[in-house]
Amino acid sequence: MPTITYSGRAYAGGDGETVLETLLRHGEEISNSCRAGACQSCLLRAAAGSVPPVAQYGLKPTLIEQGYFLSCVCRPEQDLVLEPAGGLEVPAVITALERLTPTVLRARIRTESALDYRSGQYITLRRDDGLARSYSLASLPDEDGLELHIRRAPQGRMSGWLFEEAREGQSMSVRGPAGDCFYTGGNPDQPLLLAGTGTGLAPLAGICRDAVRQGHRGPIHLYHGALRPEGLYLRDELLEITRANPNVQYTPVVLHGEGEGITTGELDKAIAADHPKLSGWRGFVCGDPAIVRMLKKKLFLAGMGSKEIFADAFIEAVCS
Ligand SMILES: Cc1cc2nc3c(=O)[nH]c(=O)nc-3n(C[C@H](O)[C@H](O)[C@H](O)COP(=O)(O)OP(=O)(O)OC[C@H]3O[C@@H](n4cnc5c(N)ncnc54)[C@H](O)[C@@H]3O)c2cc1C
Repeated sequence: MPTITYSGRAYAGGDGETVLETLLRHGEEISNSCRAGACQSCLLRAAAGSVPPVAQYGLKPTLIEQGYFLSCVCRPEQDLVLEPAGGLEVPAVITALERLTPTVLRARIRTESALDYRSGQYITLRRDDGLARSYSLASLPDEDGLELHIRRAPQGRMSGWLFEEAREGQSMSVRGPAGDCFYTGGNPDQPLLLAGTGTGLAPLAGICRDAVRQGHRGPIHLYHGALRPEGLYLRDELLEITRANPNVQYTPVVLHGEGEGITTGELDKAIAADHPKLSGWRGFVCGDPAIVRMLKKKLFLAGMGSKEIFADAFIEAVCS
């Protein structure tokens, strides 16, 4: 069984265990959340020994070169000497907290040094006690500070704290950005379809605004789904974008209830009714993991190329 040495302390790995599981089992405090290799909260650095390639999937080449890896999906095949992933975090401060609905909070965060990111990517927000969660970026890189939309998860540790206890001026730290769910120029006439539910709107709104800012000429159709009309948010801002840019269309969709300009029904059916054929389109789907999975499949079946579908599933923390 490989030996995992972390900050000078050596532990025997268990059969089939990930590095994260070994370290947590021995009482080490390692930030973690999704335990599925998605959120990057559990990043560590291998100072000696190499990790399986799957543990570095999705990391930037500069991080891979330095030995960084995701401990939650790393089943080591050899002894490893590990260090915490220090130095990758930027000190940050919360500059504004605004409730957009009873369950959605808009947080603005200013980092001590500018973050080189693309709208729609995500960052890991870390509290002083080590609690770390990922949030997607709704802001544009040249705007003052980062904009996040946070859904209040029932009994959620980070979201509950942000809703109830955090105040403007609160210091935190930010790691990232990560993810490939963002607008790339180079094909300004390609039609774009953006769809998601809840705070999946954060990256989608960012991607939409970024595409407009970069002069995208093709149609951009943004669908935002919610259970009821009260769950929709950012409507005025999105309508303003459609007024200023005739190629942008915004369709709010609710499962129950109705309202002016709102489509009632299932999100995938609303998309299929407007766009039965999607070959040649590019798609972005974000938010609830089950809905993201379902939408990816529907877009593919409607003809969208699998390489044209970009997705971020908001996988929640595994509770231990
Ligand atoms: C790439 C990525 C991007 C994301 N972007 C966003 C975003 O832009 N906006 C956003 O709102 N979220 C986003 N998320 C999700 C976010 O990272 C958090 O998972 C989310 O905010 C919940 O964190 P929390 O600490 O509040 O809840 P947690 O404390 O982690 O709890 C998560 C869930 O588990 C349940 N739970 C808690 N304790 C227990 C227990 N003991 N037993 C059983 N169940 C329990 C809670 O009810 C809650 O629903 C993203 C996730 C990923 C991976």
